[in-house]
Amino acid sequence: MEISESKSEAPYLIVLGTAQDGGSPHIGCEKACCATLLAENDHSRSVVSLGLVNPRTNQCWMFEATPDFTAQVAELVTELPAKRLPDGVFVTHAHIGHYTGLMYLGREALGAHQMPVYTMPRMKQFLESNGPWSQLVSLKNVELKMLQDKAEIALTEKIVVKPFTVPHRDEFSETVGFEIRGPGKTALFIPDIDKWQKWDTNVLELIQKVDYAFLDATFYDQSEVPERDMSEIPHPFVVESMKLMDTLPETDRRKVHFIHLNHSNPLLDEGSPQTKEVQKKGYQIARKGMRVSLE
Ligand SMILES: [Zn+2]
Ligand SMILES: [Zn+2]
Ligand SMILES: [Zn+2]
Repeated sequence: MEISESKSEAPYLIVLGTAQDGGSPHIGCEKACCATLLAENDHSRSVVSLGLVNPRTNQCWMFEATPDFTAQVAELVTELPAKRLPDGVFVTHAHIGHYTGLMYLGREALGAHQMPVYTMPRMKQFLESNGPWSQLVSLKNVELKMLQDKAEIALTEKIVVKPFTVPHRDEFSETVGFEIRGPGKTALFIPDIDKWQKWDTNVLELIQKVDYAFLDATFYDQSEVPERDMSEIPHPFVVESMKLMDTLPETDRRKVHFIHLNHSNPLLDEGSPQTKEVQKKGYQIARKGMRVSLE
């Protein structure tokens, strides 16, 4: 294969989805956020996922196996010539938006042959010991590759992925974020985390060290969830994240890409006043199809 060093060949990330686990539109939602989407049967929005593409080796990897996995795999592989499937799947944790797409690798669907699936130890144990996931393992549809906290995995000579644990509702598995490092640039992917203050890592220092930060922005503010006990579903509100990150210089604020948006989050609407406010403050909102270079 001819290895080209041209600019267009640089490894990059592509956003394959930006919604929270339940998707947008959301089941049973009669509010304005979903009513039109449901009436028009519009399913163009997808659950949170990133694709990692390396044109130099004709390889690609998925981050998260969402309920929209089939469509997202199709979108990812069209980034490369004559590509049918990704070269591996990284999974952050065992909540439905992040791993249930693995079902499409099984006997009832693709019948994959040893698709590498990268997971942390508890997540691996969960998949191995609970049906239907255990069948993916016994039939060798997937090959589980165990990750360890803060241990780097080299995908190619110049592309490295590092998981790190974050505080979250860990009923079935631990939860990680990923640092994805290319030849010249590094991205953070933290789709789910409890409040920033509960983490032993200083997120502001982390943002300063990387080039992009795709961060949990489930809810814009408390008004979206008046009927829910927030201690059961803690996330950093976007307004709280901005309050914290407003102290960063503009060059660092621009790295922040809010993602994992609940159906109720006004940032899903590109024209909402909240979207304009976030952009005015120098932050970005992840949108499907967005690409960022890792070189
Ligand atoms: Zn989630
Ligand atoms: Zn809704
Ligand atoms: Zn979660």
